[in-house]
Amino acid sequence: MKKLLVTGGAGFIGANFVHYWLKNYPDDQVVVLDALTYAGNLANLAPVQDQQNFSFVQGNICEQGLVESLLLEHDIDTLVHFAAESHVDRSITGPDAFIETNIIGTYNLLKAAKQVWIDNPQNAGKAPIEHRFHHVSTDEVYGTLSATDPAFTETTAYAPNSPYSASKAASDHLVRAYHHTYGLNVSTSNCSNNYGPYHFPEKLIPLVITNILHNKVLPVYGDGMQIRDWLYVEDHAYGIDLVLQKGKVGETYNIGGNNEWANIHIVQEICGLMEQAFANNSALAEKFPEAFAAIAQNTASLITYVQDRPGHDRRYAIDATKTRDELGYVPRESFATGIAK
Ligand code: NAD
Repeated sequence: MKKLLVTGGAGFIGANFVHYWLKNYPDDQVVVLDALTYAGNLANLAPVQDQQNFSFVQGNICEQGLVESLLLEHDIDTLVHFAAESHVDRSITGPDAFIETNIIGTYNLLKAAKQVWIDNPQNAGKAPIEHRFHHVSTDEVYGTLSATDPAFTETTAYAPNSPYSASKAASDHLVRAYHHTYGLNVSTSNCSNNYGPYHFPEKLIPLVITNILHNKVLPVYGDGMQIRDWLYVEDHAYGIDLVLQKGKVGETYNIGGNNEWANIHIVQEICGLMEQAFANNSALAEKFPEAFAAIAQNTASLITYVQDRPGHDRRYAIDATKTRDELGYVPRESFATGIAK
């Protein structure tokens, strides 16, 4: 039985991970630590809030004392670290919060984990505590690819281009250093773009869906030909699960969907799916009359090209061969079934 501390568990991927974990490992204990920033939403955890083996603590990962007391009080053996500032656009207009949470916050978690799991005087003379610090990171640390470049592997040199990806790269390096220098049992996963339930509607896919529902324009950066790999969020949780169960300590693992799309093509795909959904279910038109109006006028006419994001990376692509070969990881959801959900 594991006892997990999940940071950022009220956010998009963290909440999906908590649901995945409690469904698959009902005997485990899960404690969520989340500051409930604009991106955190307690309602994301409503389905599990009354479970005996779940608890929620509102707090900041930058508070080392709080993290240490949670690790001790709940006898935590596994820390899964999602908490972050995660939106690239916000990192361009206000990088401070990204440096604070993504770099200093991760550093504080590492210090707390080392203090409790390695340095704690109560552990003196005993066998080292079985522990794991899993760090959730992004493919954006590797920089940008041309249309013909090979996909990122775990040995691709880091070349982050936004304050967001630079802050995540810095945190990845700190996690690595705490393993090599202090012997902390760490692992890191670098994942591509996720989509699915509880996605905050500032990100492309939920933004497009909600804007169609409200008959608002669908903004697309530049020429819309920026390419991303998309993964259904539950498959990210499954990948992290495999890294925790079978991954080697000190290693990094790429997780991806093998599913590259240009942004404009994703937006067009969603327009078509929304039209189909309204055609197949007349109750939707009553519930969302504004969307019905938009769809009647040809949904794709809402697409509006806007000025490109500064330094916008052109393409990300993940080579997840290592994760497949070592851990047996293959995403379980196809894009067709995931996006329909
Ligand atoms: P999110 O923005 O939806 O959620 C972040 C959560 O962290 C929120 O609940 C927020 O309240 C919490 N948080 C922020 N600052 C905090 C702090 N100082 N202390 C405690 N809690 C804090 O993010 P997400 O999309 O769920 O991403 C989760 C993790 O996965 C991030 O580390 C991100 O870099 C990584 N990631 C995301 C994607 C993606 O497609 N969204 C892809 C790869 C990796």
